[in-house]
Amino acid sequence: MTEAELKSHIRGIPDFPKPGILFYDISTLLRHGPAWKEATSQLAERVAAHKPDVLAGIESRGFLLAAPMALALGLGFVMLRKRGKLPGGTVGLDYNLEYGTDRIEIQEDAVQPGQRVVLLDDLLATGGTMAAGVALLRKVGAVVPATAVMIELTFLKGRERLDLPVEALVAYD
Ligand code: 5GP
Repeated sequence: MTEAELKSHIRGIPDFPKPGILFYDISTLLRHGPAWKEATSQLAERVAAHKPDVLAGIESRGFLLAAPMALALGLGFVMLRKRGKLPGGTVGLDYNLEYGTDRIEIQEDAVQPGQRVVLLDDLLATGGTMAAGVALLRKVGAVVPATAVMIELTFLKGRERLDLPVEALVAYD
């Protein structure tokens, strides 16, 4: 499936979540079995080149890519979740949003020091979410060889905010 074919399964919804924002909705791709399978297997192939020991996903759409990709590659899957959702001991990291701050957390024993963890999300915009996820993984001792997304909004230059490779299946500029 080409980039154009994958894009035909993603729709842009104007003025969501607020006026002036064009939101790229992957629900239509997830609803289409062959497109979801193709997207995750293409991305899994590129992620495998970074030799991960485990895949991590950012809540919640990152899970929809990272979990099937981990299964396909025979790897474990680790969740990065929003504040207060994970049971047991956690390690968290606060990060800045456009207005205010947010916090992501990981279970303190989710990753062994030195493990190679590739971090997945559905979309890279400003890169703030992904940068926070990478910083959190490093805080618990992970080695992060790369990150991966289905969609990159290249005009927001999120990639420049990250000090590691980003694998992206489709780009909008
Ligand atoms: P960033 O932190 O890079 O500015 O924003 C990326 C985060 O916001 C990701 O977790 C992603 O799920 C969400 N996000 C921002 N814009 C969009 C969009 O247009 N479509 C989707 N599916 N997610 C978005």
